[in-house]
Amino acid sequence: MTAPVERVCLTHLQIPLKEPFRISGTEVGLKDAILLVVETRDAIGLGECSPGPASGCESLDGCWIELTERIAPSLLGRTFNSVDDIATLAATWSGGRCARAGAETACWDLLGQARHATIAELLGASSEQLERSIESGLSLGLYPTVVELLKTIETHLAEGYRRVKIEIEPGRDVELVRAVRQHFGDIPLMVEASGAYTNRDLDIFRELDDLDLLMFEQPMAADDIDGLVQLQRAVATPVCLDETANSVERATEAIGRGACKVVSLKLQYLGGFGPAVALHDHCYKHGVSCWVGTIPELGVGRAQGLHLATLGNCRYPTDIEPSPRWFVDDYVVPLIEHSAPGMLSVPTRPGLGFQVDRTKVRRYQVRYQEVGTGS
Ligand SMILES: [Mg+2]
Repeated sequence: MTAPVERVCLTHLQIPLKEPFRISGTEVGLKDAILLVVETRDAIGLGECSPGPASGCESLDGCWIELTERIAPSLLGRTFNSVDDIATLAATWSGGRCARAGAETACWDLLGQARHATIAELLGASSEQLERSIESGLSLGLYPTVVELLKTIETHLAEGYRRVKIEIEPGRDVELVRAVRQHFGDIPLMVEASGAYTNRDLDIFRELDDLDLLMFEQPMAADDIDGLVQLQRAVATPVCLDETANSVERATEAIGRGACKVVSLKLQYLGGFGPAVALHDHCYKHGVSCWVGTIPELGVGRAQGLHLATLGNCRYPTDIEPSPRWFVDDYVVPLIEHSAPGMLSVPTRPGLGFQVDRTKVRRYQVRYQEVGTGS
């Protein structure tokens, strides 16, 4: 059992992106996240609340209020004997899923350390799964020209990434994918549509269907389950839910109606490890494969994904990329890096298996608040 929680320290961090990230309708240049440090007498648990621009998650300010005023105070004095204890407390939290994910995952880190088990072991990964390295996939936004896209893919493919995902939008889709196929041949390739299409665009996906893609990620709006069902009936390429899978309930409905063959699991969308395992297991029972997506988060958020990706029904490369990929810096120790070309190691130390660099946390701090038994 963990010792009682004595203090929760929250830091709003802001780290610039190396280059602006463009997806359909959005461009971002800064990454905001909230680092949670949940302290007991003998351990600290790390969590990250990491809303993103197109995530449909609540705003960072909303998360900050939820975490500092309600969720962090509810942790004080708590002990955890099992993941069910964490789920019982998390079920009392209202508010957005990114805020809940930040706190819930920190509790899993504490429990793992108390049990001398990694989070992957708490999740139920087998010893064979724990020894497996995680495949790192490259994710790219929209680029002003096809040439810039091809050059960027070329640079990153040299780093060993196990698959390439490119963003498409209406008017820039079939032609882009054909250009990538012509230039790079038979690489593992998929497209991310960020919900930009409707059921009037089925012919575009019929054309893409001939280009041997791993999947179409979120072709239609998150709540357009009818459109996703029509599309999956019309094509052989798997449709992958992303934003539609931001709650176990909605993903379950979509799977039941035949809207997809693949689901991207995101801890931030789902509210932490407990709901993510529930959705993973539901997918397995219904013959739907999973993989671990990212917002992308900063270091702690992505490190969590490494544990989740050990689960047996995670069958495609993750979106987890090394620390230097998106941001000018990262605050985790060690940094997330490829252990072999395109591969990421599963942490072996108890709990999350990562620490924070306090100097960097101070450097990128926007605001800080402690919630403690004495404050
Ligand atoms: Mg996506």
